[in-house]
Amino acid sequence: MRAFDFKAPDSLDEVCALLAQYGSDAKLLAGGTGLLNLMKQELVQPAVLVSLQRVPDLGTLTVDGNGIRAGAGVRHRRMETDAALQQAAPLLAAAYGHVATVRIRMSATVGGGLAHADPAMDPPAVWRVLGATMHLRSEGGTRQVAADDFFEDFYTTALAPEEVLTAVTAPALPEGAGWSYQKFLPRSADDYAAVSVSALLCLDGDGRVAQARVGIGSAAPIPVLAEAVAAALVGQQPTPQAIADAAQLARDAVDPLDDLRGSAAYKRDMAVVFTRRALSEAAARARRA
Ligand SMILES: Cc1cc2nc3c(=O)[nH]c(=O)nc-3n(C[C@H](O)[C@H](O)[C@H](O)COP(=O)(O)OP(=O)(O)OC[C@H]3O[C@@H](n4cnc5c(N)ncnc54)[C@H](O)[C@@H]3O)c2cc1C
Repeated sequence: MRAFDFKAPDSLDEVCALLAQYGSDAKLLAGGTGLLNLMKQELVQPAVLVSLQRVPDLGTLTVDGNGIRAGAGVRHRRMETDAALQQAAPLLAAAYGHVATVRIRMSATVGGGLAHADPAMDPPAVWRVLGATMHLRSEGGTRQVAADDFFEDFYTTALAPEEVLTAVTAPALPEGAGWSYQKFLPRSADDYAAVSVSALLCLDGDGRVAQARVGIGSAAPIPVLAEAVAAALVGQQPTPQAIADAAQLARDAVDPLDDLRGSAAYKRDMAVVFTRRALSEAAARARRA
């Protein structure tokens, strides 16, 4: 690992001033679980590390009538175990609970995970399914970016070098929504997914699908929102056949790579299988709600 200068500012203003000063020579350090691996491999070699550890207010998680607001410093373990979040957005809590091991989840932060933008990660596609908004700050002010526009490519987001992600917000799940988080792990329980699928379904009074959202992770350079799958179900009774037909559309929604978790062709097949399973479980939950 190359030598670097270490800064530990006490406020967001100081963080922004340092990022303005050093630009792309600086990297923010949150939980360190993603960044330090990249630094050890010399894939990322910042001249300056700016720690967020001492910055107040980034670790606040709010769940209320307005929805969810997770500060960038909230740890994955808190997202997994917070009772109010489990109640308001069980899909999101479940996705965080599927990340790696407890040891990683105790360190990794919401902001670090989103800024890292490894498409194999669990939470990013779920934030897209929830229609989340990213809150960014720099010396020049603040701006908001929809999750749909935040992820741009492998390990690349809309964050500029001088910006810090301060929080992510999302509406709570609609009343009576059925949900499912499916993670296909062909290697070990603490691995990244070969493919992961998040589904959200709302039914109307006749039991037809009123709203559907489907996210697919590990399947393209960015987390995928499978809009064609969702559109195929809206207005339909979520029968096994309707779900199976809609799930077939996942095959064209993804663009996976061959890697040690499977060939691209196998992952396309698995995207269909796990989309079907996720939609079936979400429909069953919606019927019970
Ligand atoms: C062994 C292992 C297994 C893993 N398995 C999984 C898995 O199964 N599923 C999964 O989803 N993930 C997995 N991960 C990835 C893990 O979720 C990420 O490493 C973690 O979320 C990154 O968060 P962090 O707080 O540690 O970020 P850091 O490592 O500190 O930072 C990551 C990147 O984000 C930037 N950054 C950090 N905070 C901010 C901010 N507030 N604003 C702007 N930029 C910021 C940093 O500069 C850096 O570029 C695994 C990681 C490891 C090491």
